[in-house]
Amino acid sequence: MPLLITRADLPGANLAADVRLSAGRGWLPLVREALADLSDLKILAIREDAGALVIDTTRGSAAQRVRLAEIRAASLHVCELCGRRGELIYEGLKDGRPAGWHRTRCVAHREWRTCPPQMWLANDPSSNAWRLASATSKAEVVFGDRQAAVEWLMAPAIGLNREVPIDLLTTQAGYELVDDYLSRIGRGVYC
Ligand SMILES: [Zn+2]
Repeated sequence: MPLLITRADLPGANLAADVRLSAGRGWLPLVREALADLSDLKILAIREDAGALVIDTTRGSAAQRVRLAEIRAASLHVCELCGRRGELIYEGLKDGRPAGWHRTRCVAHREWRTCPPQMWLANDPSSNAWRLASATSKAEVVFGDRQAAVEWLMAPAIGLNREVPIDLLTTQAGYELVDDYLSRIGRGVYC
């Protein structure tokens, strides 16, 4: 199951041709509920901002803007990945307000990643993209399919000191740890 909402999740929605979709699938019921009240507006983006669900549209009525604010507030209690009860998690405070990394997550998904920094750009010639492609195809072989591979790359791994594999792929040394661990899993040597 994809981690993020896709066009296929919203049949019949009035999405702009270049709509930006970067919100977790746990928020899909909230998005569907919101779109039902916004059917006369064009949807420009469905995204995560500061841990909350934000839907950008062409200008609507005052009532529609209130509705969008309500949905945004409601999303701060729903895990963006699974839709169970969640809470806003952040790195620290700056001027008394949550700062740094923000995500609304349930307990099980606290450490998960959804948006690896610019690494999903298939045509990015950087070595990060190469390491990601290489690790993904190896994980696909080990776990049997692409979705299982992606989910593994996004979640903390016990054999990697609870680090998230995709975070390690930003350095060559980290890539080698992931690659080696995948080789061990492939041989059935987990510990
Ligand atoms: Zn969750």
